[in-house]
Amino acid sequence: MKRLLLMGAPGSGKGTQAAIMAAHLGIPAISTGDIFRANVAAATPLGVEAKKYMLRGEYVPDSVTNAMVRSRLSRPDAATGFILDGYPRTVSQVDFLDDVLAGQGAKLDAVIMLVVDVEEVVRRLLRRAEAEGRSDDTEEVIRHRLELFARETEPLAQIYDGRGLLTRVDGVGPVSTVATRVLAAVNDGAEFSSVEEPGQA
Ligand code: AMP
Repeated sequence: MKRLLLMGAPGSGKGTQAAIMAAHLGIPAISTGDIFRANVAAATPLGVEAKKYMLRGEYVPDSVTNAMVRSRLSRPDAATGFILDGYPRTVSQVDFLDDVLAGQGAKLDAVIMLVVDVEEVVRRLLRRAEAEGRSDDTEEVIRHRLELFARETEPLAQIYDGRGLLTRVDGVGPVSTVATRVLAAVNDGAEFSSVEEPGQA
């Protein structure tokens, strides 16, 4: 049973690594950013609300985000474990998640922080903006999202460090190399086979 958090700045590779971990560990990757984007695309009431904040690179209010996460974690596929990608991002979300898990008699097993230097993530995000046309990835919005991360979210690492749950992982390098580091951290150093580059058989 694994209940895991994957933290890191925008552009640190959380989404990519969460998908690889999910496939290896047989548990769902739950990205609050992806859930918001799907709702924006479908123009649901949640999407209409979230879009106002996402376009500016602001956090969607905790009340909205927390309710969405509670509902997602109550689905059967998350009962045996999950990888949360991009949540929690505020102290209040940390508390909320603790309460939700306590209500299930559960707690977190590990927290991974992907560490990537700021100029590297700006380069990655600008490349992705071009490739995917993400409206929250203009340079101005990117800089704002990074500031918000440094101010609101990076300090959460201390909370999890204090609980003995945190491992910082170097997020620079080929996807497969970073994945090998992440899985090693999650497995507490236990042996496992290295991860192949996507596309290589
Ligand atoms: P991401 O793809 O994780 O970078 O998320 C994209 C955007 O969705 C963020 O810039 C926020 O506007 C919103 N978002 C995602 N997760 C959260 C969260 N945990 N709390 C508040 N807003 C969030």
